[in-house]
Amino acid sequence: MKANPLHDASRRRLAPGRLSSAGFLGPDARPIDEIVAADVAELAEAGLSVEEVADLLDELHAAADAGLEAPCAACDGRATAAIVEGMGRIPCPFACGFRSHKAVVLVKAGDLELRFTPLHSHLIRKHGFFQGRGSEFRLEPRDLAALHRACRG
Ligand SMILES: [Zn+2]
Repeated sequence: MKANPLHDASRRRLAPGRLSSAGFLGPDARPIDEIVAADVAELAEAGLSVEEVADLLDELHAAADAGLEAPCAACDGRATAAIVEGMGRIPCPFACGFRSHKAVVLVKAGDLELRFTPLHSHLIRKHGFFQGRGSEFRLEPRDLAALHRACRG
């Protein structure tokens, strides 16, 4: 696969630094294109598109937003979601102009527990980026597929 120059510039912004003290890549040394291609393919094997997963994360975020850090019912009672608000906003590390408020959403659906940030749905929808393997906030496509099954029935 031909390297995407946009992604080369992004690698610097994805490293630990000003945007995120933990960074978005962790120890994952693969090219960004490769990380994106592998994760989008894994999601597709589970029968899901990035849009379907991003829509679900947006729905869970919206449900959690109603609750002032208390767990709220989401997805017709199939899940609960709670939000922990942080201070300030974070720009998309791909420098597309998108900005998100800082927060962490905790979601439970059956035995499954995941946490994500409001930036995740944008990163997944627009950039196919689930963060690097081993990074603090990586979302595994298989976990998202399990969450989708649990929430959508
Ligand atoms: Zn972006």
